[in-house]
Amino acid sequence: MKDILAAPWLMELVRTCTNMYAHGWDERNGGNISLLLEEGEVSPYLETGRVLRVIPTGFSAPALAGRYFLVTGTGKYFKNVQYDPALNLGLVRLGEGGRTAELLWGFTDGGKFTSEFPAHMMSHAARLGVDPQNRVILHCHPNNLLAMTYVHDLEERAFTRTLWRMETECIMVFPEGVNVLPWMMCGTNAIGEATAEKMKTARLVVWAQHGIYGAGKDLDETFGLIETAEKAAEVYLKIAHLPIRQTLTDENLRQIAEHYGVTPREGWLTV
Ligand SMILES: [Zn+2]
Repeated sequence: MKDILAAPWLMELVRTCTNMYAHGWDERNGGNISLLLEEGEVSPYLETGRVLRVIPTGFSAPALAGRYFLVTGTGKYFKNVQYDPALNLGLVRLGEGGRTAELLWGFTDGGKFTSEFPAHMMSHAARLGVDPQNRVILHCHPNNLLAMTYVHDLEERAFTRTLWRMETECIMVFPEGVNVLPWMMCGTNAIGEATAEKMKTARLVVWAQHGIYGAGKDLDETFGLIETAEKAAEVYLKIAHLPIRQTLTDENLRQIAEHYGVTPREGWLTV
């Protein structure tokens, strides 16, 4: 067996945790990541028949039965992942109906997956229904997006249009816009189901007064999505209280979308 700590997918996830912590998006034990892996990616590193523990998930996700996920642990700090990946991360395979998770590696202190596991797994199922290439669900607490949920209208079209106008690249990076959930109790199946529903129409779902969920084909794409939206929110907060002399118009946004061949969410531009 090869050394799992040298697996490219594990190293990339560890680097992502470190980078997110460095951005200030994952204070204390904030934030969580899950990465969908194929059996062929896992089998050079692990005996897939050797189950260390079986952990109930508390929900049902039949579409994900038999799928492998590398996931961050509950109560674990992103800043520490790089120093002890086997303690802070776990590799699980969902059992029948998705009601249990078979631990194959990690959580060496007897821990388990993030308390947001329901939101992650339900979001994976929703995104796979839209895009079979989707591999990543990533949650964090970016400062400016979080702040924006206190002062901006939470209506999704309005929220998205503000972000699109803050930087030319935004409409290219997330043409489908940003969906927004009002404040809900985190760590529950209810917020998991609501997030997954929102994930059917966008890869970014803001949790008001909490943070954001992102989805994508790989860790770079997903990190980049959140990074771009967060940058736009930062620009918004820098200028929101100042008299605006000029901005990106809907005409400009339409030009950008046409030039780069992306389709903005239907009806969200006025031209
Ligand atoms: Zn959170």
